[in-house]
Amino acid sequence: YRSKEQGRGTCQLYNPTMNAKEQFILENSLRHALDRDEFILHYQPKVNICTGEIVGLEALVRWEHPEMGLVSPATFIPIAEETGLIVELGEWVLRTACQQAVLWHKLGLAPLSVAINLSARQFYQPNLVEIVAQVIESTGLNPQQLELEITETIAVKNMEFAKSILCNLQALGVHIAMDDFGTGYSSLNYLKQLPFNTLKIDQSFIQDLKPASKDVEIINAVIALGKGLDLKVVAEGVDNEEQLELLRSLNCEIVQGYLFSRPLSVDSTTDILQANWLQ
Ligand code: C2E
Ligand code: CA
Ligand code: CA
Ligand code: CA
Repeated sequence: YRSKEQGRGTCQLYNPTMNAKEQFILENSLRHALDRDEFILHYQPKVNICTGEIVGLEALVRWEHPEMGLVSPATFIPIAEETGLIVELGEWVLRTACQQAVLWHKLGLAPLSVAINLSARQFYQPNLVEIVAQVIESTGLNPQQLELEITETIAVKNMEFAKSILCNLQALGVHIAMDDFGTGYSSLNYLKQLPFNTLKIDQSFIQDLKPASKDVEIINAVIALGKGLDLKVVAEGVDNEEQLELLRSLNCEIVQGYLFSRPLSVDSTTDILQANWLQ
């Protein structure tokens, strides 16, 4: 699968360096944004490199600011974390993505999985497992089709606690992905201590991927590591053919990135899922 119109359903995101005044305005309007329904989800496909089929989607939140247009999560997620709004916003993301996945299943669009991102603050909210269970129950989504992407920052505070939460989530049937693999301080230790289903190789290793480079050796080893540990391996940030061919030669199974598709609106995602199904 390759999206025909790369531009369709995508938008330029507002992500400048802010001055103090803009930061203040954003902080304040972020509080009202949830009530005013200003958040939307875009979805980016994960593609099986061998078959070309879409095997999953990552939900990525966007803020449709009335004056500024689409604001990047890189700008407002840190603010939402600081102010604690991330908990409420995160629950909205979870529920919306699960509802949408059920809708796609009802349209006959393959039982593919939907992933959402969980930040550290969300992870440490006291009732995370109950909320996930409640959302699964109320939406009727098969929990096997929900994946939670977390980074190792969640385990920095308390490895044992992180482990017990992840085990409880997996007991619900939910899958857990380690996001941004390789960028933290002790990725291997976390991989050893915590139960994951998927490993997402960070974009930074893909960006400058060239034949006979260090990155090739690192990715090769990470893929072997993932296979040895029985994990699904996803390469993210794949945006050109050279990277794709190298990843193919390394037997990488799943890729995500602009080469296949940017994150798309719900309608554009429905279109590409339909095309995927008919292909
Ligand atoms: P992430 O989880 O690592 O998500 C991948 C980011 O890389 C996304 O940026 C995506 O649009 C971008 N990307 C995908 N393919 C390519 C590519 O080929 N080239 C390049 N240069 N970039 C690519 P986005 O949507 O701006 O999200 C940024 C970060 O914001 C995410 O990083 C994630 O940490 C956070 N985020 C997004 N949505 C949510 C959410 O609902 N909840 C939480 N807690 N965090 C979120
Ligand atoms: Ca992610
Ligand atoms: Ca990532
Ligand atoms: Ca990231």
